Amino acid sequence: MKKTILITLIFSLSISGSFAQKLSVIELEIINKINSQLPQSEALLKKVVNINSGTLNKEGVREVGAIFRKEFDDLGFQTQWISLPDSLNRAGHLVAERKGKQGKKLFLIGHLDTVFEKAMAFAPYSYVNDSTVTGQGVNDMKGGDVVLLAALKALKDNGLLENTNLTAYFTGDEESAGKPTSISRKDFIERAKTCEIALGFETAIGLNTVATARRGSSGWKLNVKGIMGHSSTIFSQQAGYGAIYEAARILNDFRTQLSQEKYLTFNPGLIVGGSEINDNKEAIGKDNIISPRVTVTGDLRFLTETQKENARSKMKEIVAQNLNKTKAEITFQDGIPSMEPTPENEKVLAALNQVSLDLGFGEVKAGDPGSRGAGDISYIAKYLACLDGLGASGRGAHAPNETMQIKEFPKHIQRVALLIYRLTR
Ligand SMILES: [Zn+2]
Repeated sequence: MKKTILITLIFSLSISGSFAQKLSVIELEIINKINSQLPQSEALLKKVVNINSGTLNKEGVREVGAIFRKEFDDLGFQTQWISLPDSLNRAGHLVAERKGKQGKKLFLIGHLDTVFEKAMAFAPYSYVNDSTVTGQGVNDMKGGDVVLLAALKALKDNGLLENTNLTAYFTGDEESAGKPTSISRKDFIERAKTCEIALGFETAIGLNTVATARRGSSGWKLNVKGIMGHSSTIFSQQAGYGAIYEAARILNDFRTQLSQEKYLTFNPGLIVGGSEINDNKEAIGKDNIISPRVTVTGDLRFLTETQKENARSKMKEIVAQNLNKTKAEITFQDGIPSMEPTPENEKVLAALNQVSLDLGFGEVKAGDPGSRGAGDISYIAKYLACLDGLGASGRGAHAPNETMQIKEFPKHIQRVALLIYRLTR
């Protein structure tokens, strides 16, 4: 409790500087409200972090969902739990909506789950030092969920949510989406299509970097065949080179011809070859047998659909240039689409940047899309303007000792509140 009082004090002082002149009277009131509610905001964060909600812990995900649902209910949102078919083995999603006609229609994205499953060692909410807290999902992304809720509460308490059109969507399986995603993300995509701007509250890299683009991810599988035979005849006209040399040629050509392209990566994750391969991807082979079979599976990450398609056709070309007496075939699987950098996304960034400058928090720039993985916002990025990384700052997402900067927490709330306020006028 002592620490939250300290934070409130720091913030009361920090808005009294000269930049406060750039904020309207209403905006200053929003900030005062946020500061006075900080202890409750932190208590909410602590409460949800202390409930394990690993993606497969459906009970825990629903429990966190129920707590946030009550918060949205209290803010006058219409809330709903979206269940998924049992075959997907996921908890479902929380949706909260307000219908109105004023300003932009916003789609606000959070997630309830974390990567920490129930069987893993539990790390409760606690202070590492006076500026850093730790706990499961504190950074990715319960901190971001609470940033949004605290911002909305300050707007509500100032009567500023009236007649706004907001859809908050907290998925229950962001860290491991239920398959197929055509089912687990169907409702998410449908609702997003009715909105104009999506704001994602995934973990932030400080206060000055957000995401206007995220790379997409996809998969590929390479099947290579050769003629089985005595090792002493390899390289001959009738025996050829075997599947292992052919697979090595293909992978090496992928690397030499495609690895320098910016934002494109493709990683062979598993290779199996020999004289026999079974369904469990186990192989048997002998030094004196020319290998007849190799399979390789890998991922492919890209910034735009064009980049993905170009890479795929280049890979197909390489695969087709078979060594003597070998055959190879590559297949591709779509995964998460990319969030492409668009002029519309840049406009949302410009609006956020102005808020940040007016608050005296400094310039906000787009981060390197190569440094972020794919996320829920990517499923909808082609339908509306998007900005992600508006959540709490921290480090070590997906690691057991992930942290959040508790001193920056109020600033994130203030920034988000003013952004939503301005976009909905
Ligand atoms: Zn996340």
